[in-house]
Amino acid sequence: MVKFNWTINDLENRLDELKKEYYKSNDFTIKENIISDILLLQNVLNNYYDYSFHNTPNLIALYNRTKDINNKFKNIIPEINEFYNLNNQEILLPNLKQRSLSNDSLFDIANDFFKYLGHPFYGYFQKIFRQRKNHIIFSKFNQSNYTYGQIIYLKAHKEAFLEIQRINTLVDIVSLIHELGHVISAYMNSHFIEMQYCEVDTKFLELLFLDYYYNKTLDIEAIYIKASILNSAIISSKQVYNLDKLHTYEKNNYTFTNNKNLKMNAQKICNLEKEELETILKEYNSEMIRSTIGQIYGIELYYSSLEDLNNSLYKLRKIINYKAKNNEDLQNYFKKLYIYPNNHSEIYQRNLNNKVNRLYRSRKAKEKTML
Ligand SMILES: [Zn+2]
Repeated sequence: MVKFNWTINDLENRLDELKKEYYKSNDFTIKENIISDILLLQNVLNNYYDYSFHNTPNLIALYNRTKDINNKFKNIIPEINEFYNLNNQEILLPNLKQRSLSNDSLFDIANDFFKYLGHPFYGYFQKIFRQRKNHIIFSKFNQSNYTYGQIIYLKAHKEAFLEIQRINTLVDIVSLIHELGHVISAYMNSHFIEMQYCEVDTKFLELLFLDYYYNKTLDIEAIYIKASILNSAIISSKQVYNLDKLHTYEKNNYTFTNNKNLKMNAQKICNLEKEELETILKEYNSEMIRSTIGQIYGIELYYSSLEDLNNSLYKLRKIINYKAKNNEDLQNYFKKLYIYPNNHSEIYQRNLNNKVNRLYRSRKAKEKTML
C-alpha cells in the first residue's frame, strides 16, 4: 500500500526554491509564473491554519468584504437569477452509508472512470497518479473548512499538491474526482483555474461520475448524492442572488447605518428566514460565488451530456483550453457553445427529486415492516 503524504514543509521548501530560481531566470514568462506561484504559496502558508473569517457573522464586515466581489460578478447575476428561479422542491435524503474504502481503492475507481472518459483526461490522470506518493494527502474531514478537498497548483513546474478530506462515505470518491478534475484542467491550461468558471469542469465530472458509477454498480447512493449536488446548486445561487439584491438596495437607498438595521433590511428585502441569512453570513465569500457560477454551468454541461456525451466532453476540452481574456470573455464563449441556464434543467431536476423522494419513502416503509 502506498503511503500518501506531503507536508507544510514541502511547501516551504518549494517556496525557497522558487525564490532562488526567480533571480536565476531571464525568461519573462517563467518569471511571471514563478511570482504567481510564490504569492500563492505565501498565501497558503499564511492562511493554512486560519479559517477564522467563517466565524464572524457580522453583516457590516460581510458587506464591505463582498462589495467589490459583487461588482466583479455583476454581469453574471442575471444568469444566477434564472437558475435561482428554479423550483427548489424539498428532497428527502437518508444518511449515507459508512464505508471503509482504502485510499488505493478510491484510486482504482477513479482510474476506471478517467479511462472511460478517454483521451486526454486519462493521460493526465495517469500523470497525477504516478506522483501521488508525494503530492496527494488524505486527511480527516475538518468541519470548519467547508470543503472536502483543495489543490495547490504551481505553474512554473506544473506541479500540484492535493488534499482530500475523507468522511468515509461514497462522497470521498466524488471529492477525489473533483480535485483530480482541477489538476487535469490546470495541466491543460494553468490560467483556467483562476477564472470564475473554474468549477464548471469539476461539477460536470462529479455528475458524470455519479451516473457512471450508478450504471456500473446500481448503488442507489450515487443518485442521492447527485440529487443533493443539483439541489445545493440551486440553494447557493439563491443565496448569491439574495445578497446581490441587498447590495443593490443598500446602494440605492443609503440605509446602510448599523449592523442591526442592515440585518433587518436584509431579512425584509430578500425575504429571508433568519437561518437563511445566518448561512449567508457564514458562508458568503468570493469563493462561494465563484463556485456557484461554475456549478451552474457545470450542471448545464452535464445536461447536454445526457444527449451526447462525446460532444459535451469536446465542449469541456474547448472551455478549459480557451485562452479567455477575462471572465466576461469566457462567459460569451459559453454562450457560443450553447451552455447557459435554461428550463430543461427544471424538468430534469423535478423528475430526479421525485425519484429520490420515492426511493426514500419506500426505504422507510421497508425499515418499518422489518421492525
Ligand atoms: Zn473545486
